[in-house]
This record gives sequence, C-alpha cells and structure tokens, in this order.
Amino acid sequence: MPNLRGFFHQAEMSTKSINYEFKKRLNSTLGGEAHSYCYQCGACVGDCPAAMYSEDFNPREILLQALLGNEEALTGKDSPIWNCTNCYTCYERCPQAVRPVEVIIALKNICYQKATAASEVNQIVESVRTTGRTVKITSLSDRRRKELDLDEIKAVPMGELENLFEP
Ligand code: SF4
Ligand code: SF4
Repeated sequence: MPNLRGFFHQAEMSTKSINYEFKKRLNSTLGGEAHSYCYQCGACVGDCPAAMYSEDFNPREILLQALLGNEEALTGKDSPIWNCTNCYTCYERCPQAVRPVEVIIALKNICYQKATAASEVNQIVESVRTTGRTVKITSLSDRRRKELDLDEIKAVPMGELENLFEP
C-alpha cells in the first residue's frame, strides 16, 4: 500500500522548492509565458541540433528547470541556454504550443538584463548598436560580392535603428 503521508510530504517539499518569483518574471517576459504548459513529453528533443551536438543541452531539461523556476541553472553565468541555435525546430514539434525556443530567447533576455550573458553576446549587441550589423563588413566582402556579380550591401539606416533602441 502506498505511503500517502510520504507522498504528500514529498509533494509539499517539491512545491516549496519551486521558485515562483522567477516563474513570474519568466511569465512576464515576452516569449516565456507558455513555459508552464510543458508536460515534459520530449518531442522538442528529437530533431534539436544543439542537443545532438552538446551533452549539456536538452530543451526538455531546460523546460523542466523553467517549470521549477531554477533561476541559477537557467540564467547563471554557465547556463546551457546559449547552445540553442534559435533554429525553431522545437517550435514546430511541441504539441503544447510551449514554443520552447521562445522560452529560451526570453531566458537569454533575462540573462542580458542580469549581465550574465556570454561575453560574445555583448560583443554582438554592441556591434548591432554601433554598426547595425552582427558581423563587420570588410572590403573583402565587397570584393567577393563584386566577383559574384552581387549588389553592394546597402548602408544601415542608423537613425531608424537608434529609434528602435530608444527605451
Ligand atoms: S531552437 Fe534551440 S532548442 Fe529548439 S530545436 Fe533549435 S537548437 Fe534546439
Ligand atoms: S516543450 Fe513541448 S515538446 Fe518540449 S517537452 Fe515540453 S511539451 Fe514536450
């Protein structure tokens, strides 16, 4: 016969270990709001390229930690979320419309707010802010484009970009 007292004690303990404050923050961050619908089926893992190549990354596990509100594991300095390539395969596969990739993007945004994002990310953000591009366009790129009979790359309308960055 199952020990119900033990069961309820365990359930109470696991509820106590959920960080509801962090879940609330994730819920109010764009893309994070559907994380609670995850029922841990694992469909998002099958074709995930990041899970295929990295032992540290698994979208189902990321969602489990999100369900528990495990702030440190998800948004600490060594968070595995940066392995996600934003390919959106999991978005297509999830039967619960959790949109795992968007939960991960929400977590990345929280990392950025907390200044725990990887330094490479800060470099890319700075490059977009100052040049409008994620990578630098060099004279070599222009030359190669000319050889391939491609149009010149247009200048980024920095004024419009600055308006977007306005708080
Ligand atoms: S978006 Fe990220 S988590 Fe989703 S399948 Fe692609 S790499 Fe995996
Ligand atoms: S995010 Fe969706 S596909 Fe992935 S484990 Fe949760 S319910 Fe399943």
